[in-house]
Amino acid sequence: MSALPAPSRTGTTGPLLSVDLRAVAANTHLIGTMAGGRLMAVVKAYGFGHGDLAVARTALANGATRLGVTALPEAFALRSAGITAPVLSWLNTVDADFETAVREHIDIAIPSIAHLHVVATAAARARLAARVHLHIDVGMARDGATAQEWTALTAQARAAQRRGLVDVLGVMGHLACADQPDHPSNATGRRAFAEAVEVTNRAGLRPRLRHLAATAATLTDPRTRLDLCRVGAGLFGIDPIGGSGLREALTLTAPVVTVRDVAAGTPVGYGHTHVTDRGTRLALLPVGYADGIPRDAHGWVQVRSRRCPIVGRVSMDQVVIDVGTIPIGPGEQVTVFGPGDAGEPTVAEWARWAGTIPNEIVTGIGHRIPRVTCPIPRSIR
Ligand SMILES: *Cc1c(COP(=O)(O)O)cnc(C)c1O
Repeated sequence: MSALPAPSRTGTTGPLLSVDLRAVAANTHLIGTMAGGRLMAVVKAYGFGHGDLAVARTALANGATRLGVTALPEAFALRSAGITAPVLSWLNTVDADFETAVREHIDIAIPSIAHLHVVATAAARARLAARVHLHIDVGMARDGATAQEWTALTAQARAAQRRGLVDVLGVMGHLACADQPDHPSNATGRRAFAEAVEVTNRAGLRPRLRHLAATAATLTDPRTRLDLCRVGAGLFGIDPIGGSGLREALTLTAPVVTVRDVAAGTPVGYGHTHVTDRGTRLALLPVGYADGIPRDAHGWVQVRSRRCPIVGRVSMDQVVIDVGTIPIGPGEQVTVFGPGDAGEPTVAEWARWAGTIPNEIVTGIGHRIPRVTCPIPRSIR
C-alpha cells in the first residue's frame, strides 16, 4: 500500500479513504473499449477526489491516451510528476500562464477570440506553436465560443496557424443533457457541433480531434464518440445511466471514538433535532461535513454488516450513529461508504440521500482525510 498524498495521520487511528485503482483500471478498460481506444481520462478536481496522479497513471496504463483537466495548474502538476502524455486544459482566464503551458506542451482549449490572442502572444514569446483545441458552445451557455463568434474565431485561428503561432489540433464541444438520451437538445447539440466543424474546415483548418462526448454520451450514443471521448465520472464508477457495469473506487472508513448507552428520550446533537425513541447505544465517529459528509442527508453507515443511521445534526468534525444493540466498542472501524460488495452504502446512495449527484460527494471529501491507494495496476488484462 502506498499513501497519496502523504497522510497527515497514519494507521487506523482516524478516518481513511481507500482508493481502489483496480476499479479505476477496470472502468477505464470498459469505457475505453466503447470509445474505440479514443479515450481522454479527465482527472480534474484532484482526479474527482481520488488523486489526480494515481488516476492519471492508472488510466494511461489501461487504455487512455490523453488526459484532461480544467485549469493550467492541474496540468502543470501532472507534468511536474513526469507525465508526458498529451494533457488538455480547458478552463483558464486570459491572464493564465499560457507561456509555461506552451513550453510544457500542454493542449489549450480556446473559448474566445480574446483567449486566442493571448495564447498566440504567449506562443510567440515561447517560440513554439501552441497546441490548441477550439471550443464551441453547442447549447448550454456555459464554456465555449458562441456560434456568432465562431466564424471569426476560426478565421483568426487559421491566420495564427499560418504564422506558426498555433497548431489547431482539435474542436471540442460539450452536451448539456447527455444523461437524458431522449432529450431533444442532444440532437441540436450534435448538429451545432457538426456545423462548427464545417465552419472550421471552411476556414482551412483540419483539426484531427473532434470531441463532444463525456461519460454519459460515450455510454449512450455512439454518434457522439467521434475522434475522442473525454471521460471523467465513468472512470470512478459514477454511472449517469445505470447498468453500465462500472465500479466505484472509494471506501471511506472511520473508527468509533466513544460509545454510550442512552435511555429513551435522549436528545442528540446540535439543536436536538433527534430524540431517541428507545433505549439504545450511540457511537461517535470523527467525520463531519468538513470531511464531506453532507449535512442535510439522513445518512447510514455500515457497522459489522448492519446498516445504522446517523442521528442528529452532522457536525463539522463528527457524527453520532445509533447502533442499537450491536456491542461495538471504541476503535472499531465503521464503513461510511464503499463499492457495495458487503452491503455497505455506496457513493451513489449517499448522493441520493443528500439530494445531489455522486460527483459532488467524491469531490467533496475533505483533504484532511488520508488517502491510501492500492498499487497501480499496469494493466488488468
Ligand atoms: C468534467 C468535464 C468532462 C468529463 O465529464 P464526465 O461527465 O465526468 O465524464 C468532459 N468535458 C468537460 C468540458 C468537462 O468539464
